[in-house]
Amino acid sequence: MDFDFTEEQRMFRDGLRDFMQREYAPIVDKRDREGPFTREEEIEINKKFQTLGIGLDPEGIKALLDPVLFAILAEEVSKVWTSLLPLPGMGSIPALFIPLASDDVKGRLLPRLESGEFVGAFAETEPEAGCDTRDIQTTAKLDGDYYIVNGTKTWISNAVTCDTAFVGVKDPQTGAQTFLLIEKEVSPWETSPLHKLGWNASDTGEMFFDNCKVPKENEMGAIMKSAFEKGQALPMSEGFAKLLTVLTPTTALLTLPRAGMALMSVGIGQAAFEASVNYAKERVTFGKPIGKHQLIQNMLYEMDLLIETSRLLGYKAVDAINRGDPDARRLSSMSKVYAGESAVKVTYHAIQIHGANGLSQELPLERYFRDARMMVVPDGTSEMMKLISGYCILGKGFSAYA
Ligand SMILES: Cc1cc2nc3c(=O)[nH]c(=O)nc-3n(C[C@H](O)[C@H](O)[C@H](O)COP(=O)(O)OP(=O)(O)OC[C@H]3O[C@@H](n4cnc5c(N)ncnc54)[C@H](O)[C@@H]3O)c2cc1C
Repeated sequence: MDFDFTEEQRMFRDGLRDFMQREYAPIVDKRDREGPFTREEEIEINKKFQTLGIGLDPEGIKALLDPVLFAILAEEVSKVWTSLLPLPGMGSIPALFIPLASDDVKGRLLPRLESGEFVGAFAETEPEAGCDTRDIQTTAKLDGDYYIVNGTKTWISNAVTCDTAFVGVKDPQTGAQTFLLIEKEVSPWETSPLHKLGWNASDTGEMFFDNCKVPKENEMGAIMKSAFEKGQALPMSEGFAKLLTVLTPTTALLTLPRAGMALMSVGIGQAAFEASVNYAKERVTFGKPIGKHQLIQNMLYEMDLLIETSRLLGYKAVDAINRGDPDARRLSSMSKVYAGESAVKVTYHAIQIHGANGLSQELPLERYFRDARMMVVPDGTSEMMKLISGYCILGKGFSAYA
């Protein structure tokens, strides 16, 4: 059993830590309060991350699809600024399919991926279909060489700023579901922003498709078929690729963002914990540092325990993904709930230890608390994660949600 990172992983983590301290720690508190990033800011962020070898370009996406590097990225970035992560996280889904798409799509979008001037979204949720994605109403009707898309997507990360989206649709006749790679310039749609409790600098919004005309070769099945014929494959690690064959592809692909969300929660909790330890040593009441009061130590103990156990569970899920072990489904679902709910408790205690200062916008504790509270809804709510775990424990015939 080895709990250590390899030398390469340690270097990746340390480089990322320095980068986050240098580039984003000085601006995060002010900029996060000002609301969603503009597209120009997002492109600047993409370009900065590309200097570390992380990006949506075919080379940079390998780091995002390496389960351990992705976990390190999730924890280290969230320790400083959680709002940065939906940009590469959700953008990676359309970006993954671009090198496999038609020459026409590749000709336009590959240069943008390379230069960091690409912002992508994954659009599945609808006003009447959140947890229950079987119920999506967005239709794609085949008409000659095009699909005609009609419907509304909501609560989509990068909705307003993206140029390309991977959009969940259904055939109006058969009800069969698939995804379309849709480029805004070629097949325009409208958007509107949504405002929320946390992740304030991350753009979230609605997308409206009104007779949106999409080339038929942009359908996921068509992209995968033509890639298969050309001998191309998705750029993922051997273990992760194996997982795609032992679970259904969608189920397998969801394990990584869920484990990533667990490590994001760990990052937020860790930042709140470190601030609390420092404060407990400095703040004096009743003639001694508050860290000498037993009730404060009890809070620090609970925070430390929740972070350690969340990290262990998150990395256990990551390890299962990395080995192509089907138990990755149970572990990633469990870790997402456990770490997300733990981060809420940890950041609650962190505010309490800081007293009134914890509630102030002068310190980042209130941001940590708001960002932590976000973790238990997107990418699968806690309830759905518990039901998926229940199904994994009990087996066939015991799904509580199908
Ligand atoms: C900041 C943010 C970013 C997001 N980004 C994206 C994105 O990029 N792309 C995208 O497609 N979506 C995105 N989402 C949407 C997110 O995935 C959905 O909000 C989520 O799946 C829940 O759907 P809902 O909000 O419609 O809740 P509902 O499905 O309406 O559920 C409401 C409540 O009922 C519970 N519930 C539902 N069914 C059951 C059941 N069978 N048993 C027990 N409890 C149940 C839920 O857990 C929840 O507590 C984002 C959401 C947020 C907040």
